[in-house]
Amino acid sequence: MSETRHTRVLIIGSGPAGYTAAVYASRAMLEPILVQGIEPGGQLTTTTEVENWPGDTEVQGPDLMVRMEAHAKAMGCEVIGDIITSLDTSARPFTAKGDSGTTYTADAVILCTGARAKWLGLPSEDAFKGFGVSACATCDGFFYRGQEIVVIGGGNTAVEEALFLTNFASKVTLIHRRDELRAEKILIDRLMKNPKIEPLWHHVLEEVVGTDSPKGVEAVRVKHVDTGEITEIACKGVFVAIGHAPANELVKDTLDLHHGGYVKVEAGSTRTSVPGVFAAGDLTDHVYRQAVTSAGMGCMAALDAERWLAEQDD
Ligand code: FAD
Ligand code: NAP
Repeated sequence: MSETRHTRVLIIGSGPAGYTAAVYASRAMLEPILVQGIEPGGQLTTTTEVENWPGDTEVQGPDLMVRMEAHAKAMGCEVIGDIITSLDTSARPFTAKGDSGTTYTADAVILCTGARAKWLGLPSEDAFKGFGVSACATCDGFFYRGQEIVVIGGGNTAVEEALFLTNFASKVTLIHRRDELRAEKILIDRLMKNPKIEPLWHHVLEEVVGTDSPKGVEAVRVKHVDTGEITEIACKGVFVAIGHAPANELVKDTLDLHHGGYVKVEAGSTRTSVPGVFAAGDLTDHVYRQAVTSAGMGCMAALDAERWLAEQDD
């Protein structure tokens, strides 16, 4: 049944930014509603060990996000399992439509929709998605016990995925377009010491090769970026880890964006180009993109929203 819910503050997204905003907005007695989206807990639910969350030398990403949700609820935030399909910021109160049929109206909105994995855009990559091509090692690595796998990319995600996949795979080839990784030094050190991982520098993925019946991957064709030489590597799994793009679908036509789609906020604040709409976390951060910085921005957004609402009430 469709219903309309009104809240002082609607928080969209349930990653570190959303849950932190929820804790602060709840403690400001704003009785926020948080809508979780399709990935409750956000990106950290797709990883295993997190070693840079202050206070925890090591914590499992999904466990950390369960704790954050419990914390937000304990402070009084209403957490709803729904997906926002549209957001109208042209008039106040702002109106968001939920996939459930619920309409949410809000005096202020905090956008924390984060980022999503990027794909290379090759037709063969698309054809084998879910049939050997994946962007989430923790979700799909288990299917490749004793198999050979390739990982594409050179950032933290690619290196972590490659390391994690050695738990299952007989061999992991890390294919990177340069000969320098942009991952953290500690991760590069672990990668280089792992006997199951072989880096392949200066190569890009040209084509995923497989069979239709049964549908599955058999190999990849990779190209040397300087010589153009094509090499075929036998593998059963292809993990694409070439970065993330901001999940800006709800606001890409209504808010100012920059740096390829990140929501623009005023320097030193979380205020977007629409008064009363705030943005935090990976959606707005093209530089740091960490759990702790996202949480920090979630805090800022709740404080900014609280102050802005107080000004409207004056
Ligand atoms: P996200 O975590 O991206 O969450 C976005 C949320 O928005 C999700 O809950 C989603 O469901 C919701 N959403 C999206 N659209 C809608 C909608 N239409 N309606 C409602 N909800 C919506 N960082 C670290 O600091 N340490 C690490 O060890 C680390 N490891 C990582 C490992 C991997 C594999 C990945 C992918 C990232 C890792 N990161 C790590 C980065 C970290 O996960 C992100 O910086 C952080 O999660 C961003 O938080 P966020 O709250 O901005 O958004
Ligand atoms: P990233 O840092 O942007 O790295 C993307 C990698 O993919 C780069 O090496 C890039 O190559 C490569 N790449 C991009 N487009 C490509 C293409 N079309 N073809 C081939 N290669 C391509 O992305 P990320 O690794 O997903 O990390 C995103 C953010 O999350 C970062 O801020 C990261 O620190 C954070 N994160 C943190 C942790 C952690 O703290 N442990 C773990 C995971 C993620 P170039 O290097 O040549 O540009």
